Amino acid sequence: MKKYLLPLIWTLILLALGGCSPLRIDPTGAGPTDDAADVTKSAPAERGGMGADNGAQAADVGAAGVGDPLFPQSGNGGYDVQHYDLTLSWDDASGAIEGVTVIAAVATQPLAQFNLDLSGLEIDDITVNDAPAEFSRNGSELTIRLADTDALATDEPFSIAVAYHGKPQPIEFALLDEIGWLDYRGGVVVVSEPDGAASWYPVNDHPSDKASYHFTVTVPKPYVVAANGDATAPVAQGDMLTYEFDAPAPMASYLVTISIGDFWIQEEPGPDGVLISNYFAEGLSSSLLGAFDKQAEMLAVFTQAFGPYPFDVAGAIVIDSPISFALETQTRVIYGPFMTGEVVVAHELAHQWFGDSVTPASWEDIWLNEGFATYGELLWTVHEDGEESGQQMVHQWYQARANEDRLGLAEPPGVVSPASMFNRVVYERGALTLHALRMTVGDDLFFQILQTYAHRFAYGNASTADFIAVSEEISGQQLDDLFNAWLYEDPLPDIPEAGLFRADFQ
Ligand SMILES: [Zn+2]
Repeated sequence: MKKYLLPLIWTLILLALGGCSPLRIDPTGAGPTDDAADVTKSAPAERGGMGADNGAQAADVGAAGVGDPLFPQSGNGGYDVQHYDLTLSWDDASGAIEGVTVIAAVATQPLAQFNLDLSGLEIDDITVNDAPAEFSRNGSELTIRLADTDALATDEPFSIAVAYHGKPQPIEFALLDEIGWLDYRGGVVVVSEPDGAASWYPVNDHPSDKASYHFTVTVPKPYVVAANGDATAPVAQGDMLTYEFDAPAPMASYLVTISIGDFWIQEEPGPDGVLISNYFAEGLSSSLLGAFDKQAEMLAVFTQAFGPYPFDVAGAIVIDSPISFALETQTRVIYGPFMTGEVVVAHELAHQWFGDSVTPASWEDIWLNEGFATYGELLWTVHEDGEESGQQMVHQWYQARANEDRLGLAEPPGVVSPASMFNRVVYERGALTLHALRMTVGDDLFFQILQTYAHRFAYGNASTADFIAVSEEISGQQLDDLFNAWLYEDPLPDIPEAGLFRADFQ
């Protein structure tokens, strides 16, 4: 993710427009995001007597959260999702969807009961291995209870099918106002970091459970759908168009997107056989879109720095709605119309290696996303503008952090809360952490460390401890003190000594 001071700027613009601006993300009809809370139902019709006390401690009950340090209720325990097959249709007049999500999972413990995350929406039917299953809801927790004869054994594969409908409501997240399914004038965009995926499909909503995806999305003509992965040509039936996308590489739920709008599609070959395909909202000026002309070159630069690009498609979805940030949705990045600067594009493409392919195992390690993507900005800047520009960037980052330090506002980037996880310190002191590592071990070992880390944890999850272990293994140095000082301790360490930048990373 990348955000600057645009939220403030937009707030001022919106205030100046008297709040009637068509630019605002449309919260039409937004009620409480958990408006289905406490509704207990069952399918088939007979209620199963599942209650809050029913087996909460039992050995065959999957946990209602994975215990993430920042978001303990996110995700669920007891199973590992392999694949999501999402089929949905969208009505442009009402904004409602009708969907069926089929999940292929493997039990990681004996299971008679487990949870999915789903916020709002009405459930029509749930089956597990094609057998009807009872369910109940409490906020965004959807609890599914199996008949005794259908209980699952450890390592047993199983399928869950959830049919549902309704108008998705975004999920409130203080830092970004709203996340998840955002219905704006002219279309829909999904931006879910950190836990907005549950606003539009039932999901194990935590980055530690990555899975492949297939999307089948039906919309009225002439809307265009953009999602993650490989697109096939839309199929028309009457007034409707059905779009399919296949995303075979494991993906964290916060990186899943579909966007519905009046896009035109631009394709070009990228390096190493990667297809670059961009979805641009009609009417955006060519000057806004100029930064995307350099994606192929950026991928080439980052391939040299980080190793092979992890996916077979790359590109952008630029929407005509004022979201004040860009989000590194896997293979196809979502950009608001004024988040299209060259450095932002470089940041989001660097995320494809760090965040998307290698995903933090928990949200407290968010610097592994943002510090690395911000370092991508530096590598691109040096490539484009030379070493001096890179040195200036490092000094600007350092000065901003030093100023915070003097005001007593500094918070190390490895110590975050839901309120501070997207603070600039995470980005810039995170990037300075990498720069300090580079100045300590030298260019050759530094890029060897980045490439080893990107390769070893590709398509999976990693922790800060994993990155430190790779750094020590490759360099042969004890680096605990360096990482502790930069990530976890006050005060801000001295600026990493100016060293040589190399534009070619060879
Ligand atoms: Zn980012």
